[in-house]
Amino acid sequence: MKPVLPGATVGVLGSGQLGRMFAIAARRMGYRVHTFSPDADTPTGQVADLEVIAPYDDLDAVGRFASAVSVVTFEFENVPGPTAQAAAQHAPVRPKGEVLHTTQHRIREKTFLTNAGLPLTPFRTVLTSEDLARAVADLGCPSILKTADFGYDGKGQVRVTSPDQAGSAWSAIGRAPAVLEAFIDFEKEVSVVAARGADGAYADWGVIENRHRNHILDISIAPAAIADAVSCHARELTRSVLEALDVVGVLCVEFFVEPGGRLRINELAPRPHNSGHLTFDASVTSQFEQQLRAVCGLPLGSTELLRPAAMANLLGDVWKNGEPNWLAALAHPDVKLHLYGKLAPRPGRKMGHLTAIAPDSALALNRVLSARSALVS
Ligand code: AMP
Repeated sequence: MKPVLPGATVGVLGSGQLGRMFAIAARRMGYRVHTFSPDADTPTGQVADLEVIAPYDDLDAVGRFASAVSVVTFEFENVPGPTAQAAAQHAPVRPKGEVLHTTQHRIREKTFLTNAGLPLTPFRTVLTSEDLARAVADLGCPSILKTADFGYDGKGQVRVTSPDQAGSAWSAIGRAPAVLEAFIDFEKEVSVVAARGADGAYADWGVIENRHRNHILDISIAPAAIADAVSCHARELTRSVLEALDVVGVLCVEFFVEPGGRLRINELAPRPHNSGHLTFDASVTSQFEQQLRAVCGLPLGSTELLRPAAMANLLGDVWKNGEPNWLAALAHPDVKLHLYGKLAPRPGRKMGHLTAIAPDSALALNRVLSARSALVS
């Protein structure tokens, strides 16, 4: 495919904050952006040239959307398979639909990782009560039951604390096809966000450390404080994932690091990732600009981290006592504010984030935490 050059129009399936930051990067480089989702006045739509509002299963609307753009990408991995196929009739879809198909379903994703010889959390497929009983006997308790479909930020997950409680745990997720995962007593959670170009060029931003609260990402820190050998291994494994899936675009690999440095892949996200938001302010090229470069067939940009950084998510909870104190947070001159244009600050909803940059990552973490606390002071 010929490169899609500045001035062309790129299409984004999905309309959340990832699409918004992609659109900001794309518009900065002179591209036009169209977004497609069932919602109106979306984070992406607010900065795109055109917001198409239609259900994902309206394949005629998807076809018209794709006909009007030079390349289609996505910011939401639960875009249905037929939607990606309908778009691909009219424009290249990057990453290709097969990448979505594999990564939007835990059983397929884990089967892919197993077949590729990549290390992952021990798991069993659960389709019947017998599968569940066998899985609990094999993996022991505690373990975690996760729906195969549509899981993110801890949704569709239940901890199984004893064999007796397994049946009720499965009922709690609607007895849907699931995986049971061994519980990993990890030392750290880390991620590697990486990009692969149409020509096979590869680049990643190194290893980022992640801290979750209530299963939702809370804090990311770059670079992660881990041994060089573990960091190199995580990056090699990430490269293997992008190559085995033949990704053209950005993909994030989330890992558990066990005591002693053993790595296990938790999950894949075939798009820019919340842990990579700090690249917007701290790296030569952000994960969003890189997604644009990769899907348009441009050379990849440098992923060099200019300064250590830390990112803190702003959930709707920050609004619980009224409008956050923006002035107090912005009084920290090394702190950057990103808000996604969402109107309703519901608890648990990702509304924005803060990034702090500093001479070292511990200081960046202190700065971002202190700025976030100032928001509610
Ligand atoms: P997920 O949506 O699968 O990424 O899960 C969200 C978070 O739940 C992870 O980032 C971990 O903090 C925790 N978690 C998920 N699976 C496991 C596991 N098998 N062992 C321990 N913690 C887990």
